Amino acid sequence: MRMEELVGHRRPTALLQRSLLNGRVSNAYLFVGEEGIGKTLAAIAFGRALVCENPDARPEHGIYEACGHCRSCLLSAAGNHPDLRVIAPEGERIRIDQMRDLRHEVSLTAFGGARRAYIIQHAEAMTEESANCILKTLEEPPPGVTLILVTESLSQLLPTILSRCQIVRFRPAAPGAIEALLVERHHVPAAHARFIASISGGRAGWAVRAAQQPAILDVRERLMHLLARLPEADPVFVFRAAEEIRDMAVALADAGTPEPSAGEAVSASGASSEDRQIRANADAVLDIARAWFRDLLVLKMASEMPLINVDRRAELEAAAERTPLPRIHEALDALSHARYYLARNANVSLALEVMMARLVVGG
Ligand SMILES: [Zn+2]
Repeated sequence: MRMEELVGHRRPTALLQRSLLNGRVSNAYLFVGEEGIGKTLAAIAFGRALVCENPDARPEHGIYEACGHCRSCLLSAAGNHPDLRVIAPEGERIRIDQMRDLRHEVSLTAFGGARRAYIIQHAEAMTEESANCILKTLEEPPPGVTLILVTESLSQLLPTILSRCQIVRFRPAAPGAIEALLVERHHVPAAHARFIASISGGRAGWAVRAAQQPAILDVRERLMHLLARLPEADPVFVFRAAEEIRDMAVALADAGTPEPSAGEAVSASGASSEDRQIRANADAVLDIARAWFRDLLVLKMASEMPLINVDRRAELEAAAERTPLPRIHEALDALSHARYYLARNANVSLALEVMMARLVVGG
Protein backbone atom coordinates (compact mmCIF):
# COMPACT_ATOMS: atom_id res chain seq x y z
CA MET A 1 0.00 0.00 0.00
CA ARG A 2 1.20 3.48 -0.87
CA MET A 3 1.10 6.24 1.71
CA GLU A 4 -1.24 8.25 -0.49
CA GLU A 5 -3.81 5.43 -0.28
CA LEU A 6 -4.16 5.77 3.49
CA VAL A 7 -7.55 7.39 3.82
CA GLY A 8 -7.77 10.33 6.19
CA HIS A 9 -4.04 10.50 6.88
CA ARG A 10 -3.01 13.10 4.32
CA ARG A 11 -1.36 15.36 6.86
CA PRO A 12 0.96 12.85 8.58
CA THR A 13 1.85 11.08 5.33
CA ALA A 14 2.63 14.38 3.60
CA LEU A 15 4.99 15.20 6.46
CA LEU A 16 6.71 11.82 6.12
CA GLN A 17 7.00 12.15 2.35
CA ARG A 18 8.53 15.61 2.71
CA SER A 19 11.18 14.27 5.08
CA LEU A 20 11.96 11.48 2.60
CA LEU A 21 12.22 13.99 -0.25
CA ASN A 22 14.47 16.31 1.75
CA GLY A 23 16.64 13.46 2.96
CA ARG A 24 15.81 14.51 6.52
CA VAL A 25 14.38 11.32 7.91
CA SER A 26 14.42 11.24 11.72
CA ASN A 27 16.18 8.55 13.72
CA ALA A 28 13.00 7.76 15.56
CA TYR A 29 9.31 8.41 15.06
CA LEU A 30 6.40 7.85 17.35
CA PHE A 31 3.12 7.26 15.53
CA VAL A 32 0.24 7.94 17.88
CA GLY A 33 -3.52 7.55 17.40
CA GLU A 34 -6.52 5.40 18.23
CA GLU A 35 -6.54 1.65 17.64
CA GLY A 36 -7.62 0.49 14.22
CA ILE A 37 -7.14 3.72 12.31
CA GLY A 38 -4.14 2.53 10.30
CA LYS A 39 -1.00 3.60 12.18
CA THR A 40 0.79 0.31 11.58
CA LEU A 41 -0.25 0.32 7.92
CA ALA A 42 1.19 3.81 7.66
CA ALA A 43 4.40 2.71 9.39
CA ILE A 44 4.76 -0.19 6.97
CA ALA A 45 4.06 2.02 3.94
CA PHE A 46 6.64 4.52 5.20
CA GLY A 47 9.13 1.71 5.89
CA ARG A 48 8.63 0.32 2.38
CA ALA A 49 9.33 3.73 0.88
CA LEU A 50 12.45 3.98 3.05
CA VAL A 51 13.95 0.67 1.92
CA CYS A 52 12.80 0.85 -1.72
CA GLU A 53 15.71 0.78 -4.18
CA ASN A 54 14.01 2.82 -6.86
CA PRO A 55 11.47 5.09 -5.15
CA ASP A 56 8.82 7.03 -7.00
CA ALA A 57 10.05 10.48 -5.96
CA ARG A 58 8.37 13.54 -7.44
CA PRO A 59 9.41 16.55 -5.38
CA GLU A 60 7.20 18.92 -7.38
CA HIS A 61 4.14 16.99 -6.16
CA GLY A 62 5.42 16.16 -2.69
CA ILE A 63 5.34 12.47 -3.59
CA TYR A 64 7.78 9.86 -2.34
CA GLU A 65 6.52 6.28 -2.43
CA ALA A 66 7.91 2.77 -2.76
CA CYS A 67 8.09 1.71 -6.43
CA GLY A 68 6.37 -1.61 -5.77
CA HIS A 69 8.57 -3.52 -8.24
CA CYS A 70 12.18 -3.59 -7.04
CA ARG A 71 13.72 -6.47 -5.11
CA SER A 72 13.24 -4.57 -1.85
CA CYS A 73 9.58 -3.90 -2.59
CA LEU A 74 8.92 -7.53 -3.46
CA LEU A 75 10.52 -8.64 -0.20
CA SER A 76 8.58 -6.00 1.74
CA ALA A 77 5.31 -6.99 0.12
CA ALA A 78 5.93 -10.59 1.16
CA GLY A 79 6.50 -9.38 4.72
CA ASN A 80 9.95 -10.80 4.35
CA HIS A 81 12.40 -7.91 4.14
CA PRO A 82 15.30 -8.29 6.58
CA ASP A 83 15.66 -4.50 6.67
CA LEU A 84 12.00 -3.81 7.40
CA ARG A 85 10.94 -5.49 10.60
CA VAL A 86 7.85 -5.31 12.77
CA ILE A 87 8.24 -6.05 16.46
CA ALA A 88 5.11 -6.76 18.52
CA PRO A 89 4.63 -7.51 22.22
CA GLU A 90 5.12 -11.11 23.28
CA GLY A 91 2.31 -11.64 25.73
CA GLU A 92 1.39 -8.45 27.50
CA ARG A 93 4.80 -6.90 27.29
CA ILE A 94 7.63 -6.05 24.98
CA ARG A 95 10.29 -7.94 26.85
CA ILE A 96 13.85 -6.83 27.40
CA ASP A 97 15.33 -9.69 25.37
CA GLN A 98 13.25 -8.55 22.38
CA MET A 99 14.83 -5.13 22.72
CA ARG A 100 18.29 -6.65 23.18
CA ASP A 101 17.79 -8.60 19.96
CA LEU A 102 16.65 -5.43 18.24
CA ARG A 103 19.65 -3.48 19.51
CA HIS A 104 21.95 -6.21 18.27
CA GLU A 105 20.27 -6.45 14.89
CA VAL A 106 20.40 -2.69 14.41
CA SER A 107 24.15 -2.76 15.05
CA LEU A 108 24.71 -5.18 12.15
CA THR A 109 25.07 -3.98 8.58
CA ALA A 110 22.15 -3.65 6.21
CA PHE A 111 21.12 -6.52 3.97
CA GLY A 112 20.27 -4.55 0.85
CA GLY A 113 20.31 -0.81 0.49
CA ALA A 114 21.47 1.85 2.87
CA ARG A 115 18.27 2.18 4.84
CA ARG A 116 16.56 0.04 7.41
CA ALA A 117 13.33 0.48 9.34
CA TYR A 118 12.19 -1.16 12.55
CA ILE A 119 8.58 -0.81 13.62
CA ILE A 120 7.68 -1.37 17.27
CA GLN A 121 3.96 -1.97 17.71
CA HIS A 122 2.26 -1.16 21.01
CA ALA A 123 5.32 0.70 22.21
CA GLU A 124 3.47 1.39 25.47
CA ALA A 125 3.93 -2.31 26.25
CA MET A 126 7.67 -1.82 26.75
CA THR A 127 8.76 -2.43 30.30
CA GLU A 128 10.98 0.18 31.86
CA GLU A 129 14.00 -2.08 31.26
CA SER A 130 12.96 -2.65 27.64
CA ALA A 131 12.63 1.08 27.10
CA ASN A 132 15.96 1.83 28.73
CA CYS A 133 17.57 -0.87 26.62
CA ILE A 134 16.85 1.00 23.38
CA LEU A 135 17.28 4.60 24.54
CA LYS A 136 20.74 4.85 23.05
CA THR A 137 19.58 3.22 19.80
CA LEU A 138 16.72 5.72 19.56
CA GLU A 139 19.06 8.61 20.09
CA GLU A 140 21.94 7.58 17.87
CA PRO A 141 21.06 4.68 15.63
CA PRO A 142 23.66 3.60 13.06
CA PRO A 143 23.40 5.56 9.79
CA GLY A 144 20.33 4.70 7.73
CA VAL A 145 18.39 3.15 10.61
CA THR A 146 14.94 4.49 11.46
CA LEU A 147 12.83 3.29 14.35
CA ILE A 148 9.09 3.77 14.21
CA LEU A 149 7.27 3.32 17.49
CA VAL A 150 3.51 2.92 17.29
CA THR A 151 1.18 3.56 20.22
CA GLU A 152 -2.35 4.50 21.19
CA SER A 153 -1.38 6.72 24.04
CA LEU A 154 1.57 8.94 24.80
CA SER A 155 0.79 8.99 28.51
CA GLN A 156 1.97 5.41 28.96
CA LEU A 157 5.43 6.06 27.54
CA LEU A 158 8.47 7.17 29.48
CA PRO A 159 9.43 10.82 28.97
CA THR A 160 12.91 9.64 27.96
CA ILE A 161 11.33 7.80 25.01
CA LEU A 162 9.06 10.69 24.05
CA SER A 163 11.91 13.18 24.00
CA ARG A 164 13.88 11.05 21.56
CA CYS A 165 11.12 10.59 18.99
CA GLN A 166 9.47 12.81 16.46
CA ILE A 167 5.77 12.52 17.24
CA VAL A 168 3.44 11.99 14.29
CA ARG A 169 -0.27 12.11 15.09
CA PHE A 170 -2.88 10.05 13.29
CA ARG A 171 -6.52 11.04 13.68
CA PRO A 172 -9.63 9.11 12.76
CA ALA A 173 -10.62 9.84 9.18
CA ALA A 174 -13.57 12.17 8.69
CA PRO A 175 -16.84 10.32 7.94
CA GLY A 176 -17.01 12.17 4.62
CA ALA A 177 -13.63 10.81 3.53
CA ILE A 178 -14.66 7.26 4.39
CA GLU A 179 -18.01 7.67 2.65
CA ALA A 180 -16.21 8.90 -0.48
CA LEU A 181 -13.80 5.96 -0.32
CA LEU A 182 -16.68 3.49 -0.14
CA VAL A 183 -18.65 5.12 -2.95
CA GLU A 184 -15.81 5.91 -5.33
CA ARG A 185 -13.45 3.02 -4.88
CA HIS A 186 -15.79 0.28 -3.69
CA HIS A 187 -19.02 1.29 -5.47
CA VAL A 188 -21.17 1.14 -2.33
CA PRO A 189 -24.59 2.86 -2.69
CA ALA A 190 -24.43 6.33 -1.15
CA ALA A 191 -26.92 5.89 1.70
CA HIS A 192 -25.30 2.66 2.85
CA ALA A 193 -21.84 4.19 2.56
CA ARG A 194 -22.97 7.10 4.73
CA PHE A 195 -24.31 4.73 7.40
CA ILE A 196 -21.16 2.60 7.50
CA ALA A 197 -18.95 5.70 7.57
CA SER A 198 -20.98 7.07 10.49
CA ILE A 199 -20.38 3.99 12.65
CA SER A 200 -16.79 3.33 11.53
CA GLY A 201 -15.17 5.55 14.12
CA GLY A 202 -12.93 6.90 11.36
CA ARG A 203 -11.42 3.48 10.68
CA ALA A 204 -11.24 3.14 6.91
CA GLY A 205 -10.16 -0.51 7.01
CA TRP A 206 -13.13 -1.50 9.12
CA ALA A 207 -15.52 0.46 6.91
CA VAL A 208 -14.31 -1.26 3.75
CA ARG A 209 -14.69 -4.63 5.38
CA ALA A 210 -18.20 -3.84 6.64
CA ALA A 211 -19.17 -2.76 3.13
CA GLN A 212 -17.76 -5.88 1.50
CA GLN A 213 -19.05 -8.28 4.10
CA PRO A 214 -22.60 -7.28 5.11
CA ALA A 215 -22.68 -10.14 7.65
CA ILE A 216 -20.45 -8.00 9.85
CA LEU A 217 -23.32 -5.55 10.37
CA ASP A 218 -25.66 -8.39 11.42
CA VAL A 219 -23.03 -9.68 13.81
CA ARG A 220 -22.61 -6.17 15.16
CA GLU A 221 -26.36 -6.07 15.93
CA ARG A 222 -26.26 -9.42 17.72
CA LEU A 223 -23.13 -8.58 19.65
CA MET A 224 -24.33 -5.18 20.84
CA HIS A 225 -27.54 -6.78 22.04
CA LEU A 226 -25.47 -9.29 23.99
CA LEU A 227 -23.10 -6.67 25.42
CA ALA A 228 -25.96 -4.43 26.53
CA ARG A 229 -27.11 -7.29 28.78
CA LEU A 230 -23.74 -7.69 30.48
CA PRO A 231 -24.32 -5.47 33.52
CA GLU A 232 -27.18 -7.77 34.65
CA ALA A 233 -25.61 -11.04 33.55
CA ASP A 234 -25.16 -13.98 35.92
CA PRO A 235 -22.36 -16.58 35.70
CA VAL A 236 -24.52 -18.97 33.64
CA PHE A 237 -24.43 -16.32 30.93
CA VAL A 238 -20.66 -16.84 30.50
CA PHE A 239 -20.89 -20.10 28.57
CA ARG A 240 -23.95 -19.14 26.57
CA ALA A 241 -22.37 -15.86 25.55
CA ALA A 242 -19.03 -17.47 24.65
CA GLU A 243 -20.92 -19.97 22.50
CA GLU A 244 -22.89 -17.18 20.87
CA ILE A 245 -19.75 -15.20 20.05
CA ARG A 246 -18.22 -18.29 18.51
CA ASP A 247 -21.40 -18.65 16.42
CA MET A 248 -20.96 -15.09 15.23
CA ALA A 249 -17.41 -15.89 14.13
CA VAL A 250 -18.70 -18.95 12.29
CA ALA A 251 -21.38 -16.82 10.62
CA LEU A 252 -18.71 -14.37 9.44
CA ALA A 253 -16.47 -17.20 8.26
CA ASP A 254 -19.37 -18.68 6.27
CA ALA A 255 -20.05 -15.29 4.72
CA GLY A 256 -16.61 -14.90 3.20
CA THR A 257 -12.89 -14.65 3.72
CA PRO A 258 -11.57 -11.51 5.38
CA GLU A 259 -8.32 -9.87 4.46
CA PRO A 260 -5.64 -10.79 6.97
CA SER A 261 -5.21 -7.94 9.43
CA ALA A 262 -2.05 -5.89 9.11
CA GLY A 263 -1.21 -6.29 12.74
CA GLU A 264 -1.41 -10.05 12.77
CA ALA A 265 1.83 -10.93 14.49
CA VAL A 266 1.87 -14.67 14.10
CA SER A 267 0.08 -16.64 11.44
CA ALA A 268 -2.02 -19.56 12.55
CA SER A 269 -0.56 -21.74 9.82
CA GLY A 270 -0.60 -24.89 11.92
CA ALA A 271 -4.38 -24.92 12.14
CA SER A 272 -6.92 -26.25 9.67
CA SER A 273 -8.30 -23.73 7.24
CA GLU A 274 -11.76 -23.83 8.85
CA ASP A 275 -10.30 -23.28 12.29
CA ARG A 276 -8.17 -20.44 10.94
CA GLN A 277 -11.29 -18.84 9.45
CA ILE A 278 -13.17 -18.98 12.73
CA ARG A 279 -10.15 -17.66 14.58
CA ALA A 280 -9.68 -14.70 12.23
CA ASN A 281 -13.37 -13.89 12.36
CA ALA A 282 -13.54 -14.21 16.14
CA ASP A 283 -10.96 -11.44 16.13
CA ALA A 284 -13.28 -9.30 14.00
CA VAL A 285 -16.14 -9.96 16.44
CA LEU A 286 -13.96 -9.00 19.40
CA ASP A 287 -12.94 -5.85 17.55
CA ILE A 288 -16.60 -4.80 17.57
CA ALA A 289 -16.75 -5.55 21.30
CA ARG A 290 -13.63 -3.46 21.84
CA ALA A 291 -15.30 -0.50 20.14
CA TRP A 292 -18.29 -0.94 22.49
CA PHE A 293 -16.16 -0.82 25.65
CA ARG A 294 -14.05 1.98 24.23
CA ASP A 295 -17.29 3.96 23.86
CA LEU A 296 -18.30 3.10 27.43
CA LEU A 297 -14.96 4.47 28.55
CA VAL A 298 -15.49 7.67 26.57
CA LEU A 299 -18.91 8.16 28.21
CA LYS A 300 -17.66 7.23 31.66
CA MET A 301 -14.78 9.70 31.47
CA ALA A 302 -17.09 12.36 30.00
CA SER A 303 -14.51 12.65 27.24
CA GLU A 304 -14.93 14.99 24.30
CA MET A 305 -14.03 12.21 21.90
CA PRO A 306 -16.80 11.17 19.53
CA LEU A 307 -18.42 7.76 19.97
CA ILE A 308 -17.67 5.05 17.43
CA ASN A 309 -21.12 3.49 17.75
CA VAL A 310 -23.02 6.73 17.32
CA ASP A 311 -26.21 4.85 16.46
CA ARG A 312 -26.15 3.16 19.88
CA ARG A 313 -25.79 6.16 22.13
CA ALA A 314 -28.87 5.37 24.26
CA GLU A 315 -27.83 1.75 24.96
CA LEU A 316 -24.25 2.82 25.61
CA GLU A 317 -25.34 5.49 28.06
CA ALA A 318 -27.53 3.01 29.91
CA ALA A 319 -24.69 0.48 30.08
CA ALA A 320 -22.15 3.11 31.13
CA GLU A 321 -24.38 4.05 34.03
CA ARG A 322 -24.49 0.47 35.27
CA THR A 323 -20.81 -0.40 34.69
CA PRO A 324 -18.14 0.77 37.14
CA LEU A 325 -14.99 2.18 35.54
CA PRO A 326 -12.65 -0.61 36.71
CA ARG A 327 -14.94 -3.14 35.00
CA ILE A 328 -14.55 -1.33 31.70
CA HIS A 329 -10.77 -1.44 31.98
CA GLU A 330 -11.01 -5.09 32.95
CA ALA A 331 -13.17 -5.81 29.91
CA LEU A 332 -10.78 -4.07 27.51
CA ASP A 333 -7.91 -6.02 29.03
CA ALA A 334 -9.82 -9.31 28.76
CA LEU A 335 -10.57 -8.58 25.11
CA SER A 336 -6.97 -7.87 24.20
CA HIS A 337 -5.89 -11.05 26.00
CA ALA A 338 -8.43 -13.12 24.10
CA ARG A 339 -7.31 -11.64 20.77
CA TYR A 340 -3.70 -12.32 21.64
CA TYR A 341 -4.39 -15.97 22.45
CA LEU A 342 -6.62 -16.45 19.41
CA ALA A 343 -3.81 -15.18 17.19
CA ARG A 344 -1.60 -17.85 18.74
CA ASN A 345 -3.77 -20.88 18.15
CA ALA A 346 -5.41 -21.09 21.56
CA ASN A 347 -8.61 -23.12 21.62
CA VAL A 348 -11.30 -20.72 20.41
CA SER A 349 -14.08 -21.77 22.79
CA LEU A 350 -11.76 -21.79 25.78
CA ALA A 351 -10.31 -18.35 24.98
CA LEU A 352 -13.83 -16.94 24.63
CA GLU A 353 -15.04 -18.55 27.87
CA VAL A 354 -12.10 -17.17 29.83
CA MET A 355 -12.79 -13.77 28.33
CA MET A 356 -16.53 -13.87 29.06
CA ALA A 357 -15.85 -14.95 32.63
CA ARG A 358 -13.84 -11.78 33.12
CA LEU A 359 -16.48 -9.69 31.37
CA VAL A 360 -19.27 -11.07 33.55
CA VAL A 361 -17.75 -11.69 36.96
CA GLY A 362 -14.46 -9.79 36.78
CA GLY A 363 -10.89 -10.99 37.08
ZN1 LIG B 1 10.88 -0.44 -4.74
